[in-house]
Amino acid sequence: MNAGALPDGDIATRLASVLAAIEEAARRHGRRPGDVGLVAVSKRHPAGAIRAAHAAGQRRFGENYLQEALAKQDELGDLDLEWHFIGAIQSNKTADIAAHFDWVHTIDREKIARRLNEQRPDDRAPLNVLVEVNISGEASKHGIAPAALPALLETIAALPRLRLRGLMSLPAPVDDFAAQRRAFAALAELASASAVPLDTLSMGTSDDFEAAIAEGATLVRIGTAVFGPRPD
Ligand SMILES: *Cc1c(COP(=O)(O)O)cnc(C)c1O
Repeated sequence: MNAGALPDGDIATRLASVLAAIEEAARRHGRRPGDVGLVAVSKRHPAGAIRAAHAAGQRRFGENYLQEALAKQDELGDLDLEWHFIGAIQSNKTADIAAHFDWVHTIDREKIARRLNEQRPDDRAPLNVLVEVNISGEASKHGIAPAALPALLETIAALPRLRLRGLMSLPAPVDDFAAQRRAFAALAELASASAVPLDTLSMGTSDDFEAAIAEGATLVRIGTAVFGPRPD
């Protein structure tokens, strides 16, 4: 997995330019820069890349694959990191996710929520969770349909070991800025229509974070722009 990894200095430089671009996008669209956080998506990059980003000031990291994430967490146990699980969740993986992450972005059904709630260790704060919404219809197989969202939010809000924070989406990629904004606006509207209070919108990747920030993202999930292309 080390093949193709960037030198530490390059990661620091890329991180600084991503943070500057986030800040600039926030200002351009009337947002407070401090209200948009970066989740550095480190999937398929080695633990050393995370260590380099941490040395450059980054604390939040997003991982998609459980076994890979656990191995890196082991290697990086000396660092104070905030771990975000952003991958698809199989129900046989919930115990490890509940025990080893600070945030989960990708809850899309009640069964997963209930398992994470039961399995969150008592000595840890409630798990911060987001519900993944499918705002691209047939173009995406991940996320709950908007019509089913209110009931899932009500269920999660009642689970004591989960702290419901908001919504997440990974819309189908489109090039056009206005079309990118429309997808993110749809997620933002679902959040503001929610009967249960939500404070987090996780949306935007390397390719579309400006549009996400324009529409209210409070967390952007950026991998390639920070760490370079992912090794295969
Ligand atoms: C990989 C991934 C990202 C980051 O994508 P980049 O294009 O590398 O910035 C963001 N969100 C999710 C859910 C991902 O799986």
